[in-house]
Amino acid sequence: MNKIYLDHAATTPVAEEVFEAMKPYLKEHYGNPSSVYSTGREAAQAVSEARGKVARSIGADEREIYFTSGGTEADNTVLKGIALALQEKGKHIITSRIEHPAVLESCRQLEKYLGFEITYLDVDKQGFVDPDDVKKAIRDDTILVSIMMANNEIGTIEPIKEISRIVKERGIYMHTDAVQAAGQIPIDVEELGVDMLSISSHKIYGPKGVGALYARKGVRFAPLLTGGAQERNRRAGTENVAGIVGFGEAMRIACENLEEKADYLRRLRDKLIDGIEENIDEVILNGPRDERRLPNNVHFCFRYIEGESILLNLDMLGIAASSGSACSSGSLDPSHVLLAIGHPHEIAHGSLRLSLGKDNTEEEINYVIEVLPGIIKKTRSMSPLYEG
Ligand SMILES: *Cc1c(COP(=O)(O)O)cnc(C)c1O
Repeated sequence: MNKIYLDHAATTPVAEEVFEAMKPYLKEHYGNPSSVYSTGREAAQAVSEARGKVARSIGADEREIYFTSGGTEADNTVLKGIALALQEKGKHIITSRIEHPAVLESCRQLEKYLGFEITYLDVDKQGFVDPDDVKKAIRDDTILVSIMMANNEIGTIEPIKEISRIVKERGIYMHTDAVQAAGQIPIDVEELGVDMLSISSHKIYGPKGVGALYARKGVRFAPLLTGGAQERNRRAGTENVAGIVGFGEAMRIACENLEEKADYLRRLRDKLIDGIEENIDEVILNGPRDERRLPNNVHFCFRYIEGESILLNLDMLGIAASSGSACSSGSLDPSHVLLAIGHPHEIAHGSLRLSLGKDNTEEEINYVIEVLPGIIKKTRSMSPLYEG
């Protein structure tokens, strides 16, 4: 069996068409988009076309797209940029306990260095934020609500439209981190009603190190990076031209036949979930089991064992997976998401995320279903917590 890659929520390979689109901008069209001569103008033109592609794929206007170095920078720009620009108005922000660290750690900085107060909303057992809780948490000094569109660990798709409606009624800015949602479910900023939205290229078969922030026309935020006048004074620094071109192409492709591609992933996903539940005892599926789950996400906790040992055993068979988030692996702390949905530490430690991609086959899924029970059995037999 060849290598099986099941960690698309961590990153994806660059699609062939994307790579081809990027190449000229690493070689002959190397100009700085701010320069006046032709190779510079060609680069500027390419950035502009990519901006159009990104804008169209989320129902935005080109002038509302700001290219960044990725999802992390887009999230940081929202949290810190809004905080800096609106701190006179209020120093209260609402978010959830299951956000990506790019949001959560930005909040921690605002608490620590700028005296902000952050409300971290609880979620239910499946990871949902209750729009009613958002309503109750809003104060007169609330300046921003940031709730992710879909969770990167357990695949829960949040009710952003309902939350936005509540937040906008109060005249407060609404942000959503749509990094995991992009390419999986349709994104339309008008329909969602959000003011700001983050996306990243490398989660949708584009290159790493590039992403975008959507900011609705008129939204006030201070730039995170200051310097040159790039990105209409909202993000200084010479543009990552080849990266931006690749990202634009990746976004365009991601939106082509999105429903068809999502249906394919859902079919593989459900097969994998059923196969695991039917063949292994004492497993807990995390996240919802309906249309409110990302099409490519499978996430389980296996009692009595450590996720890390499952990963090592899978790796020996050529299967790449994750215990939850690439960002917290290497640390011994259990996932903040699993704790937030109510798991005790010992259960949270036994997690496995299998995130599917367009090139995975049914044959690969069958193979995982075939080998995983043996791996779990073997790992459990060595666990002091397990008594058969
Ligand atoms: C991957 C990810 C990010 C970070 O994006 P980068 O481009 O890797 O910086 C932010 N939020 C979510 C939900 C993610 O999955």
